[in-house]
Amino acid sequence: MYRAKIKESGQSYNIGKIICLGRNYLDHIRELGNQVPDRAVIFCKPASSVIADGGTIEIPDYSEDCHHELELALLIGKSGKNIAAEKALQHIAGYGVALDLTLRDLQAELKEKGLPWEIAKGFDTACPLSDFVPADQVKNPNDIRLTLKVNGELRQEGTTAQMMRNIEQIIAETSIFYRLQPGDIILTGTPAGVSRISSGDELFGEIEQVGSLRVRVA
Ligand code: ZN
Repeated sequence: MYRAKIKESGQSYNIGKIICLGRNYLDHIRELGNQVPDRAVIFCKPASSVIADGGTIEIPDYSEDCHHELELALLIGKSGKNIAAEKALQHIAGYGVALDLTLRDLQAELKEKGLPWEIAKGFDTACPLSDFVPADQVKNPNDIRLTLKVNGELRQEGTTAQMMRNIEQIIAETSIFYRLQPGDIILTGTPAGVSRISSGDELFGEIEQVGSLRVRVA
């Protein structure tokens, strides 16, 4: 059982569903040549895909093109359905640093056939996740800087101010489709700069006011 921990408080939650937003940063939509969506692009990763800070990514042998996607993670602390945007922040217990690892070759193949591409996103170790800082310690979560370095070299850089849907809108929209429950996690999309990772790579993601996440590839 994987647990999401809130720093310094000793509080922790069993991880429930992990809801991910696709195509939430315009520059990332452009780099992959995707269409800007009218409706949020939503998919889920299983809780079994989580690894902790300091963990090791294992790229499955059926893929040759695993990409990093650095994302701000929200930890839900309070249950709700059809949550109003004005009340959305009350449902967040903490903020963390996550990677939405993606088998881009498998995803492309499934997308082309019009099939669901969850297996390209949900493999074991596909969701490295840091501990969470209490929500009240992050002043404006809709304007914080994210950076990802691979082997010390800057690969992704952005700010949550570039998100097409802000945090309140993400909670409101995802809670139309899924009841949010304590322990659920929402990944909010990735800025531009995604690229392939390979064996031996060291990944270091950082989010202002939130913290950092360091993992390596087996
Ligand atoms: Zn993503």
